[in-house]
Amino acid sequence: MNNLAGIGVSPGVAVGPIRRIVQVTSDEPIAATPREVFNALEKVAADLENAAHHIELDIAKDVLGAQAMMAGDPALVEAIGARLTDDITYPDVRPHVTDSFSGFKAALTALGGYFAERTADLDEIMNRLLAKLSGTEQEALVLTAPSIIVAEDLTPSDTAQLNLQFALALVVEKGGPTSHTAIVARGLGIPAIVGCAGILDLEEGTTLLVDGREGKVYLNPTDSDIESRQHREEALRARAAAVVGPGRLKDGTHVTLLANAGDAAGALAAASVGTEGIGLFRTELLFLDSQTEPTVAEQVAMYKSVFEPMKGLRVVVRTLDAGSDKPVPYINAIHEENPALGVRGWRLTRTSNDVLSRQLEAIAEAAKGIDIDLWVMAPMINTPAEAQDFATRARAVGIKKVGVMIETPAAALHADKVLAEVNFGSFGTNDLTQYVMASDRLDSRLSDMTTTWHPAVLRTIQIACNSAKTLNKSTGVCGESAANPYLAAVLLGLGVNSLSMAPSAVSEVRGFLSTVDFAQCVEAANQAVNAMSAEEAELLAKAVLEK
Ligand code: PEP
Ligand code: MG
Repeated sequence: MNNLAGIGVSPGVAVGPIRRIVQVTSDEPIAATPREVFNALEKVAADLENAAHHIELDIAKDVLGAQAMMAGDPALVEAIGARLTDDITYPDVRPHVTDSFSGFKAALTALGGYFAERTADLDEIMNRLLAKLSGTEQEALVLTAPSIIVAEDLTPSDTAQLNLQFALALVVEKGGPTSHTAIVARGLGIPAIVGCAGILDLEEGTTLLVDGREGKVYLNPTDSDIESRQHREEALRARAAAVVGPGRLKDGTHVTLLANAGDAAGALAAASVGTEGIGLFRTELLFLDSQTEPTVAEQVAMYKSVFEPMKGLRVVVRTLDAGSDKPVPYINAIHEENPALGVRGWRLTRTSNDVLSRQLEAIAEAAKGIDIDLWVMAPMINTPAEAQDFATRARAVGIKKVGVMIETPAAALHADKVLAEVNFGSFGTNDLTQYVMASDRLDSRLSDMTTTWHPAVLRTIQIACNSAKTLNKSTGVCGESAANPYLAAVLLGLGVNSLSMAPSAVSEVRGFLSTVDFAQCVEAANQAVNAMSAEEAELLAKAVLEK
């Protein structure tokens, strides 16, 4: 079977023919007056509102409603007005319109992460506006038979127009894990893959097998390929439903399962799936939601709201990881050529030292009087000196369990010295993978390379785990890799003690781990570490784990 790879954003296996959704584009000049442009924009907002009203899927409804608000935003009208000042018929308004939208997009892109992915909303509004002005709006897309929807990216209005009861899976060339395609697919409970290079080159009608869990697309699969993948998927789901309680391997070995959270709602979700606590409390949200640094009192209130639901449980707080994919405008103010390699995470002590001091103070204060097992760690720790600096400062405010994220190759390779300074380590496999593989984690063109399955990444983790064992320090994983049941088993085999993941992934990982022995995890890890490629590592590990 040939295959294509992308980022799996909604699990499940589907088989069916391709139906390509072609986004119509045209460069013809559009003659219009400013009034006609504003009227068309009003109609776009009304269309979106109408679509939001009629669509049944709640998530798509919210997204369309938010887009309608963006289209009606007076600031957008003002920006377009600033470029169309004369009361005349412009021979071509297209460049004026695209320029004004570009300004808005640049502002969102500068915010990064979630906000950068919302630029697709502005593209969507702009395309609708240009289509309306040029009279090239598409007819509703009619699906008449169950199909796998393939597109460059699916906008909310594409999905609003599609009769999605016939959609078996969604596969798009662009987009990221929080794109609309991902959100809609999860809402529908169908498999989805984003960032799938090459998908648009396939012929309409080609039969595909889409594995949304693995992020893989197989062309013209055989019956036995289909059967084995469907079987694996069903077994995973059945096991997930059947196993409850603390994480345990088949031989009884205890595995600490934790959840990642960013706010009080995330903490409630972590508690509701029966984890032993939060393995990564991302504190960036509060800073991202604010125009200026939140005060210590604001921080204390926010941290308490996360600690309260976790009474009697572990909470691993991560200090501010501003920068790179999570820029906080008032902290990361200086332009960086290479932000992933720049002043981010604990390195901010170089430029915004007091922000980190105030945060440590707020974390310690918030935990007072709440019965939680508080662990605090710093992101992007690279050297023993940085680990020592963090540990000294955290201990000075009364924090007892201090740790570091191991997410740079330097920290992993030098873990015998780095971990000696602290109580624990936590692998941030999202960043560790991007740095070991020298591949931007946000660039979907490189998604075949940014995989923790790559033996180079697994070997790096193994080196750090061996150091941790010698020092008798505990290590966990809090990157996305912990949410992949097979990879979770391999990570345990390499020597990590806890796994922290999105709350939605916990039951499946718990279910799968209950079917494997520790000896199998170790064997799977050995085979994966010695493989030639990520693909081979995954195949070999799976074979061992499914024995
Ligand atoms: C990681 O890098 O794996 C991690 C957990 O942190 P983040 O994704 O927030 O950078
Ligand atoms: Mg990270």
